[in-house]
Amino acid sequence: MNEYDSNRIYDLVKLIGFSKTNIKNQADCYLLNTCHIREKAAEKVYHEIGRVKKDFKKLKKPLVIVSGCVAQAESDEMIKREPYIDIVIGPQSYHKIGDLILNYQRKREKINELEFDVIEKFDSLEKIPNSQNKISSYLTIQEGCDKFCNFCVVPYTRGPEYSRPFKQIINEANNLVNNGAREIILLGQNVNAYNFLENKKNYRLSSIIKELENITDLKRIRYMTSHPKDMTDDLIDCYRDCEKLMPFLHLPIQTGSDRILKLMNRKHDKSYYMNVINKIKKINENIKFSSDFIVGYPGEIEKDFNDTVKLIQDVIFINSYSFIYSSRPGTPAAKNKLNSLKISQERLVKLQKILIHNQIENNKKYLEKYCEVLVENKLKNSSKYFGRTKFMTPVKFESEDCSPGELVNVKITNFNHNGLFGFHSINKTKAA
Ligand code: SF4
Repeated sequence: MNEYDSNRIYDLVKLIGFSKTNIKNQADCYLLNTCHIREKAAEKVYHEIGRVKKDFKKLKKPLVIVSGCVAQAESDEMIKREPYIDIVIGPQSYHKIGDLILNYQRKREKINELEFDVIEKFDSLEKIPNSQNKISSYLTIQEGCDKFCNFCVVPYTRGPEYSRPFKQIINEANNLVNNGAREIILLGQNVNAYNFLENKKNYRLSSIIKELENITDLKRIRYMTSHPKDMTDDLIDCYRDCEKLMPFLHLPIQTGSDRILKLMNRKHDKSYYMNVINKIKKINENIKFSSDFIVGYPGEIEKDFNDTVKLIQDVIFINSYSFIYSSRPGTPAAKNKLNSLKISQERLVKLQKILIHNQIENNKKYLEKYCEVLVENKLKNSSKYFGRTKFMTPVKFESEDCSPGELVNVKITNFNHNGLFGFHSINKTKAA
């Protein structure tokens, strides 16, 4: 989502005459768009600003802006602790960035803008075309979260759930496809909680997917990140009815232990999650899954961890993110006593070994077979191209003739746990 936001911030500052530079010492303005999900996010921001200070020691000080979720979470503290920062701006008010910069340039007074103006944000952004021109483009449809998992900062930094108007999203999707996008990844902190009511009609994520199916030049549709509680039947049916919806779902569960799911306030148990997985598999047995896992959540004991391992072995995720729990200030879980780091590290190693093994076994299946790949770009300083399979697996390949945006059949000749390697010849063969 930050990549989407960064692109939109760039669309906004272009309007007041800014442009990107790769020569960092020449910048008049330094903007750090930050994410609070990873550990020590705030420290990383101060560290980065320290680097900017050093680079500009003998030069004119650039305007320094910190935006995003760290800005929201740390607010006044940031300017107090690091006076080199001029403007702090939260993720729901970045549409004001042009005015804020102009104000700062006039008055030279520090600015701290942290309103949750999400409706106004998207209404303002609607008037400015999205200039993103990547083959695989992001499109934010929903923001915020009302779920309040005990470990997560999102409900505090992004605010309550908000769904953008349906027509606004479809217009932006058409605009992205006209710019060259051939795949759209619909984004939201709780993307499948999308719910927009207009003229008594209730639009859900499934309504957006069905509408996007009609855009001729669009070849693939994906969405992330989903909550198991919002995997409604209308959305699950899209895996049967919508050809362009890719057969791959990232569905975080965090732990396979019912006891820890409860402590996390995840609002579902393991059997609910498995029920969703099985419903989807029933509709399309070829669909593949990935997930997120937190190891060493406060109170996790060996049995809880073994339940997670069991779940991983039952579902066979083809790719997942896994981390040791680390507390986020201000969340309910932050009050809890941390588990032994040594034990958590040992558990993480064990868990990742299984996840990687599953990834390797999955990638091995493609050896000597043809895979349908959406070509995203030609690799820098190489004759090879980069693209992804229907299941999001990265593929690097040689080609006799292909262009970004094309769907090509690549013969897989090698693999590792991260991806596939192969070649594409003009002689087309049916792909998996
Ligand atoms: S559902 Fe996701 S975004 Fe919402 S609180 Fe839980 S982890 Fe955070």
